[in-house]
Amino acid sequence: MTRGNPCQLPGMLPNYDPNDSEAGMKILEDLTENVEQIQQRVLEEIITRNARTDYLKGFLDGQFDKQVFKKTVPVVNYEDIKPYIERIANGDSSNIISAEPIIELLTSSGTSGGQPKMMPSTAEDLHRKTFFYNLLVPVMNKYVDGLDEGKAMYLLFVKPETKTPSGLMARPVLTSYYKSNNFKNRPFNRFNVYTSPDETILCSDSKQSMYCQLLCGLVQRQEVLRVGAVFASAFLRAIKFLEHNWKELCSNIRTGHVSDWITDPGCRKVVSLVLNKPKPELADLIEHECNSKSWEGIIKKLWPRTKYIEVIVTGSMAQYVSTLEYYSGGLPLVSTMYASSECYFGINFKPLSKPWDVSYTLIPNMAYFEFLPVKKKNEDGAQYVQCNGVCKENCMEKETEKEDVETVELVDVKLGQYYELVVTTFTGLYRYRVGDILMVTGFHNKAPQFRFVHRRNVVLSIDTDKTSEEDLLKAVTKAKVIVESLGILLIEYTSYADTSSIPGHYVLFWEITSKGNNHLPVLDHKIMEQCCSTVEESLDSVYRRCRRKDNSIGPLEIRVVQHGTFDALMDFCVSQGSSVNQYKTPRCIKSGEAINILDSRVVARFFSQKAPFWEPV
Ligand code: AMP
Repeated sequence: MTRGNPCQLPGMLPNYDPNDSEAGMKILEDLTENVEQIQQRVLEEIITRNARTDYLKGFLDGQFDKQVFKKTVPVVNYEDIKPYIERIANGDSSNIISAEPIIELLTSSGTSGGQPKMMPSTAEDLHRKTFFYNLLVPVMNKYVDGLDEGKAMYLLFVKPETKTPSGLMARPVLTSYYKSNNFKNRPFNRFNVYTSPDETILCSDSKQSMYCQLLCGLVQRQEVLRVGAVFASAFLRAIKFLEHNWKELCSNIRTGHVSDWITDPGCRKVVSLVLNKPKPELADLIEHECNSKSWEGIIKKLWPRTKYIEVIVTGSMAQYVSTLEYYSGGLPLVSTMYASSECYFGINFKPLSKPWDVSYTLIPNMAYFEFLPVKKKNEDGAQYVQCNGVCKENCMEKETEKEDVETVELVDVKLGQYYELVVTTFTGLYRYRVGDILMVTGFHNKAPQFRFVHRRNVVLSIDTDKTSEEDLLKAVTKAKVIVESLGILLIEYTSYADTSSIPGHYVLFWEITSKGNNHLPVLDHKIMEQCCSTVEESLDSVYRRCRRKDNSIGPLEIRVVQHGTFDALMDFCVSQGSSVNQYKTPRCIKSGEAINILDSRVVARFFSQKAPFWEPV
């Protein structure tokens, strides 16, 4: 590969030996030096390949020109392309959007009409993902020595999948990747040896998968150099699982026999091989650590050679940092990458930086990137602060929707500015708004680096759920009908994601009154619990999956507050700089002080008593 023209190979994915870190770094340097040329070539390639698709033909009229593309192809949201995706799901040829066949649909954690959005994927795209994953290795090697002298305990999982009416597989992006030959038949990489045998990762029973992966990780504890999961929430879930199951795990290690309830044949076979023989001393040691009163620093104690924890802790995952720090005993938390079902975007070139300093460099051969500039809603009031990656106020998106704002290219973004990411992918998305708000923090060579600020329109988030203000309003409205029929009025409400325990859960604060007077009504437990369940049933499919299938969200809670509580909340917000005239009750609260104001006025608490209904798409 030569400098200045790095993407000679078909599919624009330079080939190299992933064990060769120097070659990997050289590729990253070339990619980030030649951003402009690469982005031009990516766009040309996408247009050339796809100009005859129904979708692009309608705009480009047979022209292959980049300027025509930017002038005529609209910037779109999911709702605009949903009819095309649905046609493909129902059996239409995928060449209505992509010349390359769409081989499956990737179900996103973003939803539309209560169901996961579905993103197109091609065979070639798996190679693009492999190329991207391989580049993470040299970056880590640059900062941490000796990663080839041991193993990684990564807890990776597959999720349920379904088929569309036309027989296409619909499943989450990581499930698709782990089940692909690119993952299963990956060449040996001495920097990437996992403690979890593939059979345990690919086991569809999440409980057996978790148990077996932890068992293998514990048995190989002296070899483990790093631990992790994709998202911080998944790693914390594993710690909780360990808290509940360490006695049984130790007993398996002591006897050398895996528990009978591990019935998945693949898991049984590989875990028995890892267990190998009775290891009573190892079991004693682990038991001793797990038996201690405090689990502070338990990761370091159980896996003493661990150098860092690899989990995404940016965006909505920032809320888990303090809990992770507690369990990790001060190990660095490493967010390596920024990616989505639509496309893999960027790599963190400084993996050891603190969670709040993390920036991602967009890799220019992944897709054609454009940016919609976004402004603060009002320069005096709403500040853009990193609010756990969740929108504090329904700030600026509406503004960009109304105005006909022009996009800027990757090489033209400005330091310190906020943008919404728009992608044109190799898989049939053209000028698609991803919904993420990013801020430019610097440059690596000529490639801009971005801090993930928040996701558009998300007020509540736990694990992979992203609940919008609109979803919340709809759900609360349904529950409100129940109390109204009993002569009770819901005057005000707000919410917050309580992640002080694992799993976290959503809390709704309700100020209610009897119709006709200002008195707090007598509250019927059963009715209030039904309200909690109704809210849960009305939230989208990702919430219900997290709650029912993954157990990564706990029962929803309603806290009824005293009369006048929301006035106190308003006083507080105004004291913090909100304008009295423009004050609107925030539908989600992040500030600890505001939560205290509400919590100190709680008169009754109710929890949902049953998990909501959920089934795959
Ligand atoms: P999904 O389509 O379900 O894979 O979700 C993709 C979304 O997750 C992205 O658009 C982001 O909003 C969020 N996300 C992915 N990676 C990161 C990251 N490293 N930091 C913050 N948010 C992320």
